[in-house]
Amino acid sequence: MHKNNIDLYKKRLQKKLDAERYEHTIGVAYTAAALAMRYGADIEKAQIAGILHDNAKCISLERAMQLSEKYNIALSEAELANPMLLHSKIGAYLAMHKYKITDKDIVRAILYHTTGRPNMSLLEKIIYIADYIEPMRHKAQNLPEIRRVAFIDIDKALLMILSDTLDYLQSCSMESDPMTRKAYEFYKNSRPLEDR
Ligand code: FE
Ligand code: FE
Repeated sequence: MHKNNIDLYKKRLQKKLDAERYEHTIGVAYTAAALAMRYGADIEKAQIAGILHDNAKCISLERAMQLSEKYNIALSEAELANPMLLHSKIGAYLAMHKYKITDKDIVRAILYHTTGRPNMSLLEKIIYIADYIEPMRHKAQNLPEIRRVAFIDIDKALLMILSDTLDYLQSCSMESDPMTRKAYEFYKNSRPLEDR
């Protein structure tokens, strides 16, 4: 018997992800739960969104194409060319159709976990940040500082991550999604002037 939904989702995801991605998934779920405690979000929803956020990370392009046909998912050229975008979109659809998630906030947290967007909900911010700071992460610059700020000022941490993500993509001449730029501008302009 499973204790609750969370255990059930974990069991299902363990079969869908490779070991490293599953470890990351559990890290995101715990980190999201901690952020939910800090900011007064629903802890169970944060855990479920964390467990499911990368549910489509380990599927092949071929399988993604099949799924897009099965569920009528419109994929743009940009999404087809970029596995990062593809796994968020397919993941959001699978969350609804396969994992039977009816909560739109959870679905959107999965959909926007790669790019962010302007005016994110608290849950979307929590998943976006947890994905970046969970304990298994180690490569990104400024991680110790972002981890500290995440539990003090969520919007400031969000802006730091958006900014570092744009810098990083530029530094390796990778194209950023326009949505990330829009999110960055939105959160930069919402900071107090002395903070920008
Ligand atoms: Fe992801
Ligand atoms: Fe992730």
